[in-house]
Amino acid sequence: MFSDRISRIQPSLTLQMTSKAAELRSKGFKVTNMSVGEPDFNTPLNIRTAGIDAINNGMTKYTPGGGLPNLKNAVCQKLKRDNNLNYSPENIIISCGGKHALYNACQVLFQSGDEVIIFTPYWVSFPDFVSVTGAKPVFVNTDPNAQYQPNFSDLEQNINSNTKGIIINSPSNPTGGVWSDDAVKRTLDIAHKYDLWVFSDECYEQLTYDTDFTSIKNFDPKNDKIITFQSCSKTYAMTGWRIGYTAGEKKLIKAMSKLQGQSTSCPNSIAQSAAIEALTGDQSEVAEMRNVFKMRRALIMERLGKIPSVSCDTPGGAFYVFPEFSKLIGKKLNGKKIETATEIAFHLLEKYQVVTVPGVGFGAPNNIRFSYAASDEDINNAMDALDKVIEEIS
Ligand code: PLP
Repeated sequence: MFSDRISRIQPSLTLQMTSKAAELRSKGFKVTNMSVGEPDFNTPLNIRTAGIDAINNGMTKYTPGGGLPNLKNAVCQKLKRDNNLNYSPENIIISCGGKHALYNACQVLFQSGDEVIIFTPYWVSFPDFVSVTGAKPVFVNTDPNAQYQPNFSDLEQNINSNTKGIIINSPSNPTGGVWSDDAVKRTLDIAHKYDLWVFSDECYEQLTYDTDFTSIKNFDPKNDKIITFQSCSKTYAMTGWRIGYTAGEKKLIKAMSKLQGQSTSCPNSIAQSAAIEALTGDQSEVAEMRNVFKMRRALIMERLGKIPSVSCDTPGGAFYVFPEFSKLIGKKLNGKKIETATEIAFHLLEKYQVVTVPGVGFGAPNNIRFSYAASDEDINNAMDALDKVIEEIS
């Protein structure tokens, strides 16, 4: 009945867990939600006000398909100011979130017969973006003890004449890993050697805690096959406004705009106006949010560090930790053998109403993702529950 295309993709596991949390809450349970992929802060006041002003000033009509010219200028200013990148408006497209931008770029570049390299653990949507085009996602291992940087021999072994692209996401969802400059350069050298398109998903660029972030394009400025994806979602607590943007080679941006014009017409006009304020207005709340996340990272790592059967190196960015439970696989919980960390995640959910995301959706069945975009109280509740589950395991 349906096209082959739709059977090639899976529902988003993270969105499913968010619905599960809402369902439990509606039944009257006090839920500790550690599954969220968005800041728990409100959008800063100056940005909200810009949105309200946009409505009152009649910015309520279609905009050009690829985005408002003033927003493209604001993106260019932002890329220069924060990322030392020189782009002009013809290199920029505004989309309905970073997700939409990544989806569009895959549609424009990949097709049946192509292969695209994705590093495991991966953000849930990357394999589906690739599969829906008919291309094949090819998974490459990373090192959990080194910020999930690539296993370079595995990377080279997986490249062949069909390989067309490679997707990098540092800081990463789900691991929080931030690659070293050296790892980025080695990856870019390999991409250059095999003439691959490089997707750099930088939606967590403002959330690094131990090192300053360098946008990947800085390491190989002449390489026109590097595409930079950023978003207002995580940086400005604007997930619901749905504004993301791409910087890349002009012809690619033009092709993405053509596709976008025939699918969504344009991104939301009000959100685009608010995004101009986000990118060019006062940036102090970005630093404040980063400081809060850094303190929460310290709290959750301190708690995880006290559980010997769980391994987790300190992630350098984003707002996730991705502990590994391999030492508990094969033991018993609730009278049943633990096959993967998914059983631990579901036990946390059903007995203690702690919502997490099982690692299986990210290609890592022995891990669980905990988001620390949550209050200290929630972090402590979740870790208390995890301590109890570990005690129950025999
Ligand atoms: N890329 C990564 C790695 C993400 O985690 C997300 C959201 O969770 C996105 C892209 C997309 O975010 P948005 O579409 O809200 O910009």
